[in-house]
Amino acid sequence: MGGYIMQLQNFSVNDGDGIRTTIFMAGCPLRCAWCANPEGQTCRNAMTHWAETSEVVQKIRQQEIFYRYSGGGVTFSGGEATAQPQFLAEMADALYDDGISLTLETCGQFDFDSLRPVLQKMDLIFMDLKHPDSEAHRRFTGVGNETILQNLQKTAALDIPLVVRIPMIAGVNTDASTLHKAFAFISTSCPGAQLELLPYHRYGETKYDALGLPRPPAAFAAPTKAQLSGWEQLAAQEYGIKVTSYK
Ligand code: SF4
Repeated sequence: MGGYIMQLQNFSVNDGDGIRTTIFMAGCPLRCAWCANPEGQTCRNAMTHWAETSEVVQKIRQQEIFYRYSGGGVTFSGGEATAQPQFLAEMADALYDDGISLTLETCGQFDFDSLRPVLQKMDLIFMDLKHPDSEAHRRFTGVGNETILQNLQKTAALDIPLVVRIPMIAGVNTDASTLHKAFAFISTSCPGAQLELLPYHRYGETKYDALGLPRPPAAFAAPTKAQLSGWEQLAAQEYGIKVTSYK
């Protein structure tokens, strides 16, 4: 029937192929210490609103011509798009029946079996691997990574294009042993998946002030372009992973 969203963003070009509409859905089971969209962590706050499924689908249909000419479509994002599974399924069903290309961005923390029908409607899935070590994952996000690793593996086996995204944050996950562990997991458990390294940024920090939340630790830092490029080469050359970028 509907759910909570932050916004619909038309003419989005960083969340998949072509010109897209990105639906920023509210709610998230994680609490990443670096989160750039803290307003997306909960369904109900000053920056979210309720939207009927029919209303969202109607607005999407008005953009269809841009998708057709650019090879674009709709991207479900967040917050965490799977945190409202019924709302996600309603929108995915309606838009899939319209023949609109669908992409999902997810942190990977969801119930695989119940989400499988939605995943199978996607043309592309972006799934995060924030830290390969469960204890560190819990320390930085509030949740261990067991479900996420299992879901990466199961999603890779669905034969749908999969991009594993790692947010690269100095002070969290850019040391050599963490990177080797992450790349080894992708290479062995997600054969065929591509890799996108996303450099950390601090753009969303004023939102923390607006929500009355403490800002991310000052120790978190963005990598340099040279570091990113070196890590991409490591993934490609030592682990045979295809590296991509949608930015
Ligand atoms: S998964 Fe994304 S939306 Fe959720 S807390 Fe982490 S960074 Fe924020």
